[in-house]
Amino acid sequence: MEKIYADHAATTPISDSALKVMVDCMRNFYGNPSSAHQHGREAAHILEDSREKIAACIGADSEEIYFTSGGTEADNQAIFSAAAFGKSVGKKHMIFSKIEHHAVLNCIPALEKAGFEITLIGVDSRGRVSLEEIEEALRKDTVLVAVMYVNNEVGTIEPIAEIGKLCKDRNILFHVDGVAAAGHVPIDVKKLGVSTLAISGHKFHGPRGIGALYVDKNVPVTNLMYGGSQERNKRPGTQNVPGASAMAKALSDAMMTLDEQMNKLEQLRTRLLEGLKDLDGMWVNGDPENRVPGIVNLGFRDVSGETLLLLLDLRGLSVSTGSACNTHSVEPSHVLTAMGLPRKDAGGCIRLSFSADNTEEEIDEICTILYEEVERARGSGAS
Ligand SMILES: *Cc1c(COP(=O)(O)O)cnc(C)c1O
Repeated sequence: MEKIYADHAATTPISDSALKVMVDCMRNFYGNPSSAHQHGREAAHILEDSREKIAACIGADSEEIYFTSGGTEADNQAIFSAAAFGKSVGKKHMIFSKIEHHAVLNCIPALEKAGFEITLIGVDSRGRVSLEEIEEALRKDTVLVAVMYVNNEVGTIEPIAEIGKLCKDRNILFHVDGVAAAGHVPIDVKKLGVSTLAISGHKFHGPRGIGALYVDKNVPVTNLMYGGSQERNKRPGTQNVPGASAMAKALSDAMMTLDEQMNKLEQLRTRLLEGLKDLDGMWVNGDPENRVPGIVNLGFRDVSGETLLLLLDLRGLSVSTGSACNTHSVEPSHVLTAMGLPRKDAGGCIRLSFSADNTEEEIDEICTILYEEVERARGSGAS
């Protein structure tokens, strides 16, 4: 049995070119970038070169890029930096969308404990936030708005530039979780008007355990941890130079081949949906227009998504229900319920997410498997 990987929104395999950069760096440039000798200087040079590359990919200046351990840390640092700033100026209100990743939403208890009030903004049936709803939720003491660029469960693209303008006009910080967007849509932080933006290497064929936080020069940054003076005193600990260089390579590659990759993904998506058009009681979740092509969230009437996932796994097909972080919870996806799906329907959905390395043969095989296993899942009565 051939295995098929259709869970690229959970994580991607590292590309050959990024792996090569990473291994080369580990072998040959192993110095500590903070060391004042040749080995250290060589590593520091690679680190700063990687920073410049990443900055160039998102329209930032290199001194606005901070390396982190991944998307979660970058989201946390942006949010708690805004909290520290809010505290210092007496602003204690924040606005998050309901469909944020848990790396954002699960900051809320700690924020509330620190005295902040959080307003959660809903989305429409396509997963888009409404500008009017954000505008209505704004208060005099609002310090931060956080809305993700691309939703990782349904692929919906949010109106980031419009929200950015709204926030800029009112001097409110705007954090964007760009983890599902980087390498998948063009990003220009200046045009989007964002204050902070998080990215993560392993979502675009780089390594995991490395990410970056963009922070606008004029926006204050606060440490999450204390230690050495790395990352301009804002993120201590010896930097992950191999990770940073491989992430920079992966992001540069992704941006360079973006149109090509998106065309291929559109073709795969069209082929999949065409192939599944006779599957009874199936629907597509998300926005038909404002979306990335690689994420396809499907619902099946009278099916348990969990059961289906296990059946698909037995056929060697790896997919996900909602986000990978939800695997151990029985709650239906917070994203799908925010989009208005009844709990029962939300529990009958799976996410397939592709890369341009998936093939048309794999798509055809997925269709065959889905026809058979959806029927089996319905027959099992486990819905
Ligand atoms: C994966 C993901 C994260 C978390 O990133 P890690 O690098 O795994 O910590 C955050 N936000 C979104 C939208 C994601 O898809």
